[in-house]
Amino acid sequence: MSDKTYAQWQAYCQALVSQQRIEGRAFINGGYRQAQSGRSFDCINPANGEVIAQIAECDEADVEIAVSAARQSFESGVWRNQSPKVRKETLIKLAALMEANQTELAALETLDMGKPISESFHVDVPGSADVIRWHGEAIDKIYDEVAPTQDDVLATITREPIGVVAAITPWNFPLWLACWKIGPALAAGNSVVLKPSEKSSLTAIFLARLASEAGIPDGVFNVVPGFGHTVGKALGLHMQVDCLAFTGSTRTARTLLEYAGQSNMKRVWLEAGGKNPNIVFADCPDLDKAARSAASGCFYNQGEVCVAGTRLLVERSIHDEFVQKVVEASRYFKPGDPLDPATNMGALVDKQHQGNVLQYIQWGQQGGATLALGGEAALDADKGAFVEPTIFTGVNNQMRIAREEIFGPVMAVIPFDDEQQAIQIANDTDYGLGAALWTGNLSRAHKLAKQLRAGSVWINNYNDGDMTVPFGGFKQSGNGRDKSLHALDKYTELKTTWIQL
Ligand code: NAD
Repeated sequence: MSDKTYAQWQAYCQALVSQQRIEGRAFINGGYRQAQSGRSFDCINPANGEVIAQIAECDEADVEIAVSAARQSFESGVWRNQSPKVRKETLIKLAALMEANQTELAALETLDMGKPISESFHVDVPGSADVIRWHGEAIDKIYDEVAPTQDDVLATITREPIGVVAAITPWNFPLWLACWKIGPALAAGNSVVLKPSEKSSLTAIFLARLASEAGIPDGVFNVVPGFGHTVGKALGLHMQVDCLAFTGSTRTARTLLEYAGQSNMKRVWLEAGGKNPNIVFADCPDLDKAARSAASGCFYNQGEVCVAGTRLLVERSIHDEFVQKVVEASRYFKPGDPLDPATNMGALVDKQHQGNVLQYIQWGQQGGATLALGGEAALDADKGAFVEPTIFTGVNNQMRIAREEIFGPVMAVIPFDDEQQAIQIANDTDYGLGAALWTGNLSRAHKLAKQLRAGSVWINNYNDGDMTVPFGGFKQSGNGRDKSLHALDKYTELKTTWIQL
């Protein structure tokens, strides 16, 4: 189905909600089911406060059933022993089904977490399908190794699926980030239990049905919605879960490491928070482009992006001129109804998060920073969780708004005097996810890229990339990498087989 007008999207979504067509049950062992307890919780549209569905409130009992189904499917070999070619074809079929259901997936994503429908439809859903297809296509083109041993030995080094993978995901790109885990985990032959965020479970629940239709065998892909302290914790502590693949906050990431230590030392892979520096030197070849990138790099997806360029470091000699350009470029982002295809900034994920973001803005002002743009709740502040794009100047790197991840549309501008100071400020953070620098000096670009302690460094762009490059963090931004063939390292064990000839 093609793209729609505002009125058509409204009518389409209205029908989904009023006809109670939104699935909120868990998907375990090939079918939908209520939580064992019979409990559910409200799924709320953050743009207007409306309850749009009921989500199964799963707990330890449901985790037990899902992990057991995943374990049995893994041990039976029904998926892992399929040839890579069959797994490839199944995942390619899943990607095609996602594309065929682009409209419904996009509508669910926007209704659930508030992002603009134009992005859900044109970016998130096709991007997610692309991830599944990419990993499917790759898996029958990877060879194992033969070690260079002495002549009377044959030693092979093979990759094997790790077993039962529990994927725990956040709410900011619910479908896409789930696919970053599911794609390589399933391609490698694992069985998966996915726990989506309690704030955005709908697309994961829908995806489970598509995976089944594509031919993923029962028990191989399960979705267990619910809260972190129940479902997430039960997965983290479960003795039959071999691997935790997580995206979310650094606080939760730390807890998952503890769960692994308290249970079976399951592998723990963490994509966590960021407080990313975007550094602009006076010799930047195109300040207008840099300003537009600084704005979109911070305000895209309502600022709910782990690699958002929330610390804008500007060389002092161009500070005032450049800040003016960034402020102007940022006016492009206007909070609006997420179902309007013209909207480029939607609602934050919920009212509670809106309150947190507004609290940070207050702390910024109390701490002595100057508001250069925004700073308020926007639109229907009673019902919807909207916040204006907000820019603070006069920030120093010790202020709370420069140190803590706000995860909303708030930028802190920090001046610097020279290269050394720029790098010192950029690296003075607990995080290490992304960093960018803008300069026309090739030698400076290479030299400083090496010094930046971050998993991704962008030169004269912000957050560009595709499936061919790995993504992940240094320091407390996590470990392991999503995307690219490196993602397989998370979901496979290396086995050495030493054969005496
Ligand atoms: P969160 O840590 O609150 O929740 C993430 C997931 O963990 C959710 O499914 C949640 O239910 C679960 N969880 C919470 N407590 C748990 C517990 N005790 N045990 C097990 N599971 C638990 O994060 P969020 O608010 O959903 O997402 C925002 C965070 O995600 C930000 O910090 C952001 O930077 C980060 N993020 C990182 C990346 C990346 O690739 N590095 C990408 C997107 C988002």
